[in-house]
Amino acid sequence: MPAPSSTSRNEPAIAVIGGGPAGFFAAITAREANPDCRVTIYEKSARVLGKVLVSGGGRCNITHDSPDPRELAAHYPRGHRELIGPFTRFGAPDAADWFTGRGVPLRTYPDGCLFPASNDSRTVIDCLTREARRAGVKVRTRCGVRALSRQGDRFRLTRADAGAAVVDRVLIATGGRAAVGPPGGGYALAAGLGHAIIPPVPSLFTFTVPDPLLQGLAGIVVDPAAVRAPGVKGLKVQDGPLLITHWGLSGPAVLKLSAWGARAFHAADYRFTIAVDWIPGLAAGEVEDALADLAAAENHKQIKAFGPFGLSRRVWMRLVERAGLDPTRRWGEPGPKQRAALVRVLKGTALEVTGQSAFKEEFVTAGGVPLKEIDLKTMQSRITPGLFFAGEVMDIDGVTGGFNFQACWTTGRLAGFALAGPED
Ligand SMILES: Cc1cc2nc3c(=O)[nH]c(=O)nc-3n(C[C@H](O)[C@H](O)[C@H](O)COP(=O)(O)OP(=O)(O)OC[C@H]3O[C@@H](n4cnc5c(N)ncnc54)[C@H](O)[C@@H]3O)c2cc1C
Repeated sequence: MPAPSSTSRNEPAIAVIGGGPAGFFAAITAREANPDCRVTIYEKSARVLGKVLVSGGGRCNITHDSPDPRELAAHYPRGHRELIGPFTRFGAPDAADWFTGRGVPLRTYPDGCLFPASNDSRTVIDCLTREARRAGVKVRTRCGVRALSRQGDRFRLTRADAGAAVVDRVLIATGGRAAVGPPGGGYALAAGLGHAIIPPVPSLFTFTVPDPLLQGLAGIVVDPAAVRAPGVKGLKVQDGPLLITHWGLSGPAVLKLSAWGARAFHAADYRFTIAVDWIPGLAAGEVEDALADLAAAENHKQIKAFGPFGLSRRVWMRLVERAGLDPTRRWGEPGPKQRAALVRVLKGTALEVTGQSAFKEEFVTAGGVPLKEIDLKTMQSRITPGLFFAGEVMDIDGVTGGFNFQACWTTGRLAGFALAGPED
């Protein structure tokens, strides 16, 4: 077995477990803040930053145009209160400046998402690996950490290859659980040093909805729509584009609802009822008035002739049928009662969700190390001094839009400074 490494306190040895975005950002920050510290990233797989490569459909949605820390934090179902402080110290504009200042020009899209101007996630990987090299961070791939324990006031790391190292400070940046398979090893490392683990469950998923209403409509986007889960107490309605898929529903409105309801939906074994509002811009009374106007103005046309309210004709026909109306009838024929039934469907079609599946563009983990066990100014454990956390291993997750990487940049940055700094 190789001899454990040792060091003096003026040159603290720092182990970063996990070569993802959070680990890299922390390692670079630590070395730049204190060139005397020795920083090694231990990555269990053959290559670092694997998720960055596939992120955002290969384009890497790096952050979001959200300069106000409070507004930014509101996009995190887990962490919306706790992240306001960290975002004040290193927010989305700081992250954007960091990358643009290091040769990654960014482009902001109308929906607020920031991507590298190259539209290629490899630009981000190249930047992080180049900056790590320049800063003198050592990177060891195929070098998973299997065990972590206290050795006096230092830490002993046992690697998967049975090698060991003794270091002064440790950052756990092992990410969330994989989409399939058992939870990642980082949770066990944290638990071994006294941390509770909030059971990890998936967030950002699409809904399986085997309702005939949706059959044959795959590919249609209704924008905007609003989706809610009436059976889940306290869960707010989510709006945005709604995508009909071969299996059910996806798109930003559904993904946001999946994130905010991640725990409740998991507890319900992903069987629950949703209500879709197909015309969220109009109140029920306004829809009723608009339908009455249509009945007067288009009374000789068939109901199926066109889709009002910006709805596609095919979606419109299904909704009309769901309301018990015959779409071949004329606009002037249905009476107020039938129009009221149509309003009810348009403003709240009930659909049964029977399962979930991973959204290919992005999925994350809700759960992990509880935030109350971490000092969020430094990302240091409140339980084990010298132990730090960054990224998705913590009970932090955001909706889609660049928020999950932003949490990595922020927590990695704060952890990096603290790792390199003097002891408390
Ligand atoms: C398909 C997909 C697309 C995404 N797209 C986006 C996007 O466009 N924008 C966005 O903001 N977010 C996106 N995300 C979410 C984002 O990728 C994650 O939130 C982010 O990667 C988390 O970073 P992390 O450093 O905490 O963990 P990870 O990126 O998961 O990195 C952790 C690393 O630790 C390693 N590791 C684990 N255990 C050990 C161990 N015991 N020893 C050594 N190494 C270990 C892992 O191999 C991994 O390399 C996407 C996620 C997915 C799955």
